[in-house]
Amino acid sequence: MPTERTFSIIKPDATRRNLTGRINAKFEEAGLRIVAQKRARISQAQAEAFYGVHRERPFFGGLVSFMTSGPVVLQVLEGEDAIAANRRIMGATDPKKADAGTIRAEFAEDIEANSVHGSDSAENAATEIAFFFRPEEIVG
Ligand code: GDP
Repeated sequence: MPTERTFSIIKPDATRRNLTGRINAKFEEAGLRIVAQKRARISQAQAEAFYGVHRERPFFGGLVSFMTSGPVVLQVLEGEDAIAANRRIMGATDPKKADAGTIRAEFAEDIEANSVHGSDSAENAATEIAFFFRPEEIVG
């Protein structure tokens, strides 16, 4: 398995409920290392650009409002097969469909306020990491 890096966001529903530590424990217990992390407010322009692929979807406006509604925690996670591993740890987008023990099954409020974002491909991971982090902010 290759060592990879993936991009993660702990979303506003989770920071509001003070779940950062419990979510980070899930990553670390599964063998992922948090090699960069910063708490931030995402601007409307950043949220619109980050989720640009969903621009035509009916939930786009609500998603941008949600992602700018409170602080987030931006992260780079590193480990073996990190991109797929993180998607397994997160669980399905809709928490009603997420496997037991996943972050979304345990913590998500609904399909929109679903506690975490994680890159879905190596290409997107590289793009998303570069969108929020300078290389020197990532310490492996
Ligand atoms: P992810 O890769 O599992 O995060 O899912 P997507 O890339 O398909 O969607 C991005 C984000 O948009 C999700 O994490 C949700 O926050 C939100 N989202 C996706 N589908 C829906 C939906 O049907 N309704 C609403 N309200 N939000 C959605």
